[in-house]
Amino acid sequence: MDFDYNIVWKNCLNIIQDNLGNSQSFKTWFEPIKPIKLENNVLTIQVPSQFFYEWLEEHYIGLLKKTIKKELGINGRLEYSIIMDNSNFGNEPFTIKVPTSNKKATQNQAVNMPLDINNNSSKEIPNPFIIPGLKKIKVNSQLIDHYSFESFVEGDCNRLARSAGYAVAENPGKTAFNPLLIYSSVGLGKTHLAHAIGIQVKNNFPEKTVLYVSTEQFIQQYIESIRNNNHNDFIHFYQMMDVLILDDIQFLAGKEKTQDVFFHIFNYLHQRGKQIIITSDKAPVEMNGMEPRLISRFKWGLSADLQIPNIETRIAILQKRLYNDGIEMPSEVIEYLAYSITNNVRELEGALISLLAQSSLNNKIITLDLARQMIDKFVKNTSREISIDFIQKIVCDYFNISVDKIASKTRKRDVVQARQMAMYFSKKLTKSSLASIGNQCGNKDHATVLHACKTVSNLIDTDKSYKIYVAELEKKFNL
Ligand code: ADP
Ligand code: MG
Repeated sequence: MDFDYNIVWKNCLNIIQDNLGNSQSFKTWFEPIKPIKLENNVLTIQVPSQFFYEWLEEHYIGLLKKTIKKELGINGRLEYSIIMDNSNFGNEPFTIKVPTSNKKATQNQAVNMPLDINNNSSKEIPNPFIIPGLKKIKVNSQLIDHYSFESFVEGDCNRLARSAGYAVAENPGKTAFNPLLIYSSVGLGKTHLAHAIGIQVKNNFPEKTVLYVSTEQFIQQYIESIRNNNHNDFIHFYQMMDVLILDDIQFLAGKEKTQDVFFHIFNYLHQRGKQIIITSDKAPVEMNGMEPRLISRFKWGLSADLQIPNIETRIAILQKRLYNDGIEMPSEVIEYLAYSITNNVRELEGALISLLAQSSLNNKIITLDLARQMIDKFVKNTSREISIDFIQKIVCDYFNISVDKIASKTRKRDVVQARQMAMYFSKKLTKSSLASIGNQCGNKDHATVLHACKTVSNLIDTDKSYKIYVAELEKKFNL
């Protein structure tokens, strides 16, 4: 029976050629196929790659079905054997079964997906690979709905990363931003932005397969696939993505094997114009413990960083959050929060949530006082100090002048007084150097700040009304 499969396949090719003519398609997609066996009415053909198989599935499944039926009868079936294009992952060919009759398809599980890929709608088809004609498998994208572009506040701190992310979502895999690498220190919105891109791709192109995965999860799945002896499945699963989002890639540091696997998945996807989005806590040049060839891949696309949001953006983030949750809060409280917590959006939101919790648990309305008490604890816990920005704001509010006057050249008496007090309190309440205080209070030098501090101390001792100003301000700073 050895020669049977050759004859059967030859007959099949004749039928296919009849349908396609002597076209380029025939040459490209059917000539490279090798028949390898025929057993129990199942013809196995070998194809050069996973991609090749997918292409056949997408474009020629009808024709193949018809052809097999003609040659082998109604119970005839076709199986694919895919030559792995990567020798690192074992040499045995990876077989995917494709019956031309899909009635019993559910029993034939050739591929185990490392993730829960099945939505309720396809419960009875645990492995969609085996259903001929099914173009795309359903992947649980793991995207978090509320991390959308709508809820991501734009600011100077994130403009480049945000617009690159948006461009990628409009045209995944087709922009120069592939891979798109977003980096920043913690709590500045990498994960949020990465999800936003994924969500937007799904909105624009519902048929695209998008996956968000944390690097820790990726590593875990890889280790498990080795343990269960199905690392081919693991790789194939990732090779199916149109958009792959890998969050916190720094966790790959020192994990050579996983880096290696990711390198191959990366190449596979990139070569096929699939979009890769990576986040990291460092720029590529600073990534330690990462293979140079991987780092060089990261540099192919665009690396965009997220910076600490300025005061306006921090206020806007809080306002948007409150608006979305339908909560009202006095603007002085919002400003107080935004001025107090400066360099981590997650902590800023954390403070807001504690404040809301405190007020609802204790049935207190949210006032500046409540915010202060809470922030004091919060700030102490996270060992943060009051910012110079905040000091300037309190002082200027007190003297009823606008904050930008501090940085101006004005030598008007009330402004000079406010500027000196802001310097005095900055020295007293922060760990900033005289030079940096001067820098933030109108670009003055350290001698000017020192002079201001002495002047304020002298006036406290000699001028009664001045002493009252300072005492009242101290109260505002909770001293
Ligand atoms: P990272 O991944 O960089 O550590 P996250 O994406 O987890 O940071 O962001 C921390 C929190 O801050 C999240 O709740 C996120 O929604 C919020 N956040 C960060 N940046 C923004 C922004 N520009 N607009 C709205 N929310 C933001
Ligand atoms: Mg994150």
